[in-house]
Amino acid sequence: MQIRGVRRLLIDLMCQVASANHPLEFVGVLIEKEGIIEELNLLPGTTTGETSASLHYDMMPLDPHVAGSAHSHPSGAIRPSEADLSFFPMIGRYHFIIGYPYGKDDWRCFHTDGTLAAIEVVP
Ligand SMILES: [Zn+2]
Repeated sequence: MQIRGVRRLLIDLMCQVASANHPLEFVGVLIEKEGIIEELNLLPGTTTGETSASLHYDMMPLDPHVAGSAHSHPSGAIRPSEADLSFFPMIGRYHFIIGYPYGKDDWRCFHTDGTLAAIEVVP
C-alpha cells in the first residue's frame, strides 16, 4: 500500500500522548487505512530511555496495515538516534518522532534509513 498522507487528528493525538507521558517516552505503532495513516496503537510497558523502542518490537502486531512507528523524544531533539535506526526497519516505512515541547510543529517523519520523509497532512 502506497502511503499518501497522515491525519491531522492523529498528529494532534501523538503530541497529546507525548505530552501526557513526559518526561517518559511513548512508543506506538501506526496503522494505515487506504493509504492514510489513521491510528496509533501504543505498545505496553514503555520505559524511559532511548533503548526502550528496541525492546518492544516482539510485541508488535503482525498486521499488513502497519505503516510505521511513532515515539517521543523528551530531550526535544527531533532526529533518529542510533537505537532508532536499528528499530525502524522492524516496523514499516514511516517513523514519526515527536519532540518536547510537543507543539503542533514539533514532529518530523523519517524513512527507515533516517532521512526525512515528506508526508502530506490531511484533514
Ligand atoms: Zn528515538
